[in-house]
Amino acid sequence: MMRSMTVIGSLNMDIVNRVEKAPLPGQTIKAIETSYIPGGKGANQAVAAARAGAKVEMIGAVGVDAYGEILLENLRSSGVGTGGVLVKQDISTGLAFITVDGLGENRIIISPGANGALDPKDIDEAGKLLDEPDLIILQNEIPYPTLAYVFEYFAAKGKYIIYNPAPAFVPPENIYHMVNLLILNETEAAVLTGVKTESIEEVHSAGKILVAQGCREIIVTLGAKGLFYMSSEGTTMYQPAFKVKALDTTAAGDTFVGAYAAAIAEGKPLQAALHFASAASALTVTRKGAQTSIPQRAEINAFLA
Ligand code: ADP
Repeated sequence: MMRSMTVIGSLNMDIVNRVEKAPLPGQTIKAIETSYIPGGKGANQAVAAARAGAKVEMIGAVGVDAYGEILLENLRSSGVGTGGVLVKQDISTGLAFITVDGLGENRIIISPGANGALDPKDIDEAGKLLDEPDLIILQNEIPYPTLAYVFEYFAAKGKYIIYNPAPAFVPPENIYHMVNLLILNETEAAVLTGVKTESIEEVHSAGKILVAQGCREIIVTLGAKGLFYMSSEGTTMYQPAFKVKALDTTAAGDTFVGAYAAAIAEGKPLQAALHFASAASALTVTRKGAQTSIPQRAEINAFLA
């Protein structure tokens, strides 16, 4: 049993400048190095799922520019279907301008571009081009009205919806009753529930609030500490992370989401799926960048062997 999935979300080019010290207002400085790294939470999760072995399509939008072409090519070479990615006129591809200083501190400006222009009729248009998926994966980097439309549309069809509410905000209405699986980090859990999430007990309390709002299953990722799982049927579980030397945690959460979706799509039971996703994201944190750091299925299996 191999179920298919569609990720509906953002595609960004991350333009990363490494500098000694970030510029002050009015100052001009030289970068030590500049790199272009495909990113965007939607695209990262699609790549993670495809590299982990899943059948994945993406719905999203890019502009008519070289960045859009590179992002599309990168998705294809990772095995993600791009038939649902629209190319929009008169708007830039989504960009993230990232400055990393000598202390490793980030300063980030996101220019949503085409991601911010994805509207409900685009979803209808893209959806017509694709076969109906079994699973849907969503994040918060597309406009909220479009997200709400997607939720209603696929929940009405009884699809299994995985929602990664990042970047976190409290939605204007309850969408959690349409969420089969909520995957979020501890900071996002705190924003959504208003409770502190520093200890496992506090994470447990936050989980209860989200289950009470209608989520069937929740995974709170806890960085190097691992994860906490909770279901509306009363199962709770803590799983520690794998011990690795972390170099860059960019895309750790996105890798987790994609790899976990791939694991359940092929029918792995809960514990094994959590293990598989933790292994995939442990590998991601040992490497630099967003999509550049997401592992292939063979690497994940070798890590687990
Ligand atoms: P996000 O990137 O959304 O902040 P987390 O930092 O919680 O997400 O990381 C997601 C998952 O990645 C964790 O549950 C864990 O399995 C893995 N992970 C993150 N950081 C580390 C680390 N330093 N060592 C090992 N695994 C890690």
